Amino acid sequence: MNEGHRRSAVVVGAGLAGLTAATGLAAHGYAVTVLEARDRVGGRTHGIEAAPGVRVDAGAAYLGDRHTELLALAADLDLKTTPTTMLGASRFALTPDTPDSPASPDSPDRPARPARPALPDTPGAGDEPATRDGRFPPLDAVALGDLFERLTELTDAVRPEAPWLTPDAERLDALTAADWAEQHLTHPDARLFFPLFLGEMCAADPADLSVLHLAFYLRSGGGLRYLNAFAGGAQQDRIDGGAHQLCERLAEPLGARVRLGEPVRAVHQDDRSVTVHTDRGAHRADVAVLALPPLLADAIAYEPALPAPRAGDRTARGCAIKVHLVYPSPLWREHGLSGWSVNARGPLLSTVDDSPGGATPAAGIGVLTGFVTGAEAHRFGALTPERQRAEAAGQAARLFPMLPEPLGVHVTDWLDDPYSRGCYAALLGPGDWIRTGPTLTRPHRRVHWAGTETSTAFFGLMEGAVRSGHRVVAEILARA
Ligand SMILES: Cc1cc2nc3c(=O)[nH]c(=O)nc-3n(C[C@H](O)[C@H](O)[C@H](O)COP(=O)(O)OP(=O)(O)OC[C@H]3O[C@@H](n4cnc5c(N)ncnc54)[C@H](O)[C@@H]3O)c2cc1C
Repeated sequence: MNEGHRRSAVVVGAGLAGLTAATGLAAHGYAVTVLEARDRVGGRTHGIEAAPGVRVDAGAAYLGDRHTELLALAADLDLKTTPTTMLGASRFALTPDTPDSPASPDSPDRPARPARPALPDTPGAGDEPATRDGRFPPLDAVALGDLFERLTELTDAVRPEAPWLTPDAERLDALTAADWAEQHLTHPDARLFFPLFLGEMCAADPADLSVLHLAFYLRSGGGLRYLNAFAGGAQQDRIDGGAHQLCERLAEPLGARVRLGEPVRAVHQDDRSVTVHTDRGAHRADVAVLALPPLLADAIAYEPALPAPRAGDRTARGCAIKVHLVYPSPLWREHGLSGWSVNARGPLLSTVDDSPGGATPAAGIGVLTGFVTGAEAHRFGALTPERQRAEAAGQAARLFPMLPEPLGVHVTDWLDDPYSRGCYAALLGPGDWIRTGPTLTRPHRRVHWAGTETSTAFFGLMEGAVRSGHRVVAEILARA
């Protein structure tokens, strides 16, 4: 590189990882261009208008006190956090699936999956939702305790910074979480709860991820208890006004250097530079940062070719659809309910109070967020919008009978979103960690990798995305 040559970088993807990287490189004097496929920044953080002037998080929302780099970023951007509201009792509708419940159609691009077995009757759960203090479901406490102990054993044994080096990694990586459940979970309540837990934790159907990935994911996120908890855990807070503001504010000072509506098609490089091609032109730079989920990184053509694909045949998309139901106020609170529910039947497998303003709600609005995850997301995603709204509103009314008709129902379907392919994050399937783990962050000459799926700490979360952005800046500065 010539003396006096101003270094340059092209960043692909204007999500949290890409924009953190671009900001860091610009601060170190790099001429930066960010190429973003969508017509907005933010990627998997996204705000939608739920009511006039009220935006809610249709993508990522929750964070905890261990998400230190995200919290520091929020503070830098002058954004505050607000506690996630969990005031009052929970509702549980844990009557298992019956054989005549609607089948989950298989998505066209994956192999047919076996029908979910009908689950036997669950002691303590009838057709009427049960109300309980706290969040522990009315299921057999010993069976659930045993499930959590087994998961904790797996989680403790994993090597979070290098899961492929975990003792017994090959065997654990060959096994799906569904295989593991089949082998280890005998009590019907544990079998009932396991897929609900996975849906909530990582928007996964147990057939879609390896046991090694499950153990890694839980460990990477701070352990099962931390990941699952609200107060004191990973869901403790939200960004006041919405997490989507993070990327909007990061992008502001970059101005016209962020180019929207420019999907990257190809990356060519030689000894002197790297050239990133979109339909509108070519962008040449000293280095490129690809801040994309692995399935999307593989959709780009590389010259020279990547030594190995970033994803495999069994790498699956996490499957999440978020539903926001808008009411005149968080009425459930007046009845001693928190808005939290867990449900064996869809579409809303869990619900949470996401009313703006937290514990002191903004006047005139209550927002209940429903999560449709895993296999259920495929069934629900295939319905008409009218049917989706009717099913979601009907289920909310059964869970919280005090609710009137919602003022609005907003469905955000991430399943077939061409620029995410994996929500909350990509799911590493059988063989993925052993094959891709060792090269996850290894640069391909001038191409460096970022994105939450490259972070072994807080993988899949906003914190992981921000950390990956910082890591890639340090990596590029070290090579200069
Ligand atoms: C419904 C949902 C709920 C979630 N909940 C939480 C939560 O509560 N807490 C939490 O911490 N995390 C949560 N997450 C996960 C979190 O959103 C992600 O971990 C994080 O936002 C990922 O950031 P990223 O920059 O790595 O990737 P992304 O945000 O996916 O950014 C990648 C960017 O690249 C762009 N792109 C893709 N292909 C191309 C191309 N060829 N050319 C140019 N640009 C391209 C995309 O449009 C996108 O903007 C959730 C995600 C979803 C969807």
